[in-house]
Amino acid sequence: MRFFEERRRLVEELKSEGVIRSKLVEEAFLHIPREEFVPEHLRSYAYVDTPLPIGYGQTISAPHMVAIMTEELEAQPGDVVLEIGTGSGYQAAILAYIVSKGHGHVYTIEIVKELTKRAINNFAKAVPELLDYTTFVIGDGSKGLEIFAPYDKIIVTAAAPNIPEPLIKQLKPGGRLVIPVGNRWSQVLLIVDKRRDGAIRIRESVPCVFVPLVGEYGWSKESEYLY
Ligand code: SAH
Repeated sequence: MRFFEERRRLVEELKSEGVIRSKLVEEAFLHIPREEFVPEHLRSYAYVDTPLPIGYGQTISAPHMVAIMTEELEAQPGDVVLEIGTGSGYQAAILAYIVSKGHGHVYTIEIVKELTKRAINNFAKAVPELLDYTTFVIGDGSKGLEIFAPYDKIIVTAAAPNIPEPLIKQLKPGGRLVIPVGNRWSQVLLIVDKRRDGAIRIRESVPCVFVPLVGEYGWSKESEYLY
């Protein structure tokens, strides 16, 4: 009850800030219990609009950033979505809620095996009904996820040095990629549209700070020290 009230208050706040704009994103935020996706000892901070540590040096993004990215992605019921950087599984749950309205699917890939295990547990506890609409993969998502491509939408929840070429390839014509690109400490959220004729259009959304995307098309361990 307490969390439900706090969740409602946060959603109202995000709406009044103009961060949550669509009915579907609002519904998703009201439906997914963020307290189930943060570590036990941080549960009382679940509805403070801030990132929180989830272990392995990683974080669950702040609610306003999840809302901005979800709105920018324009995920629709029925979409097939790829998320890179499962982390806690919270963003994946928000997306699964939306796409499940039209029997779509979310593929979410994470490079830290233990985080995938936790994300699956979080889902099983919080939103078991969405497990049918979600596939968890362990691996290097900087290369995308070729086997289930192409995707209507791709969302990267870690900071990339550049737009990885495979992600553009794995996007359907008419599809959209949302990705933070920049240096190690500050990035800009890029909205990349692949038009029906194959042309690529890139728009800058908001400044942001994400943990680094590692792997083949991400930051190498050595290059991190340069920034
Ligand atoms: N979307 C998450 C937050 C992600 S934090 C949530 O809702 O909680 C970024 C995540 O990206 C981290 O868990 C990190 O381990 C993961 N990551 C970094 N590089 C990756 C890569 N190449 N492939 C897949 N996951 C990666």
